[in-house]
Amino acid sequence: MTTENVIIIGSGPAGLTAALYAARADLKPLVFEGTQPGGQLMITTDVENYPGFPGGILGPELMDQFRKQAERFGARLVATDVTAVDFSSDPFGVFTGDNRHEARSVVIATGAAAKWLGVPGEERLTGRGVSSCATCDGFFFRDKELVVVGGGDSAMEEALFLTRFASQVTVVHRRDEFRASAIMAQRVLEHPKIKVRWNSLVEEILGDKGVQAVTLVNTETGEKERLAADGVFVAIGHIPNTAIFADSLRLDERGYLILKGDGTTATDVPGVFAAGDVADSRYRQAVSAAGTGCMAALDAQHYLESLTE
Ligand code: NAP
Repeated sequence: MTTENVIIIGSGPAGLTAALYAARADLKPLVFEGTQPGGQLMITTDVENYPGFPGGILGPELMDQFRKQAERFGARLVATDVTAVDFSSDPFGVFTGDNRHEARSVVIATGAAAKWLGVPGEERLTGRGVSSCATCDGFFFRDKELVVVGGGDSAMEEALFLTRFASQVTVVHRRDEFRASAIMAQRVLEHPKIKVRWNSLVEEILGDKGVQAVTLVNTETGEKERLAADGVFVAIGHIPNTAIFADSLRLDERGYLILKGDGTTATDVPGVFAAGDVADSRYRQAVSAAGTGCMAALDAQHYLESLTE
């Protein structure tokens, strides 16, 4: 069996930037892209905040460019899910079903997925008024009426950010008090453009080509109401894709990978590095993910060099 220099798990901006750098260092990286390659940008429409594209670029198109650039230098991309890892062996084991692959180093870039409500209309209208990222999509809603779902800091942050563009933001929260930190909650409650619907759930998102309204249901009275809206921002948390690492690496209480903490992308296991949203609950941007992908490839390269010294 061939022992790879580096296996990269994941194919969003972090994974493919790691692949680009590792390929250019002649490490011939093997990338397991997953069965849904490209990460969260594949469900985004226009990306206007990725530097270098002054006219904006579609999310899937941007990821296609990342891919081509990595392949140009010899990265091998395989659209398969990694199902298990063995970081206790030397070399490491990376499994795709029954197949065991071996590598001297591994870069984990499996990302995180936004939690969705799972209500009718949500999936159909994603990218057409339904979003999970105000920083990415808020700009498209100038003078529009928006709904933000959630009661945590993310929802507060999204609602406050959206007031820059929207004429009105309604925060819909399922309880009668926010989970968010007091200061964020206070900013929302005091903002003249923001209203709050307490004890309310979004039951359905309505619209044909784009969002037109939501159906709210009051959790106490059961009363239903149609609220007109041009966009719905779902901010009910993210789930990092770390289930297969739970037995071998440290995770925080929300499931994010904990890095070693020395300013690099190293985890506690020498030779295993992490990049992008899988280890970042704070910034969650394509450009920051790409940046840490670059760091992880350089860290892996230095690690491999240290093995032969
Ligand atoms: P979170 O704190 O877990 O809050 C999620 C919110 O969504 C909660 O209010 C929850 O309601 C609600 N929710 C969950 N599932 C729902 C569903 N199916 N339907 C309706 N509502 C639902 O997540 P987060 O806001 O993304 O924050 C994650 C972490 O990042 C937190 O530790 C937060 O402090 C931190 N963060 C910090 C900042 C900042 O400091 N600037 C910004 C963003 C995030 P309940 O309250 O009823 O459970």
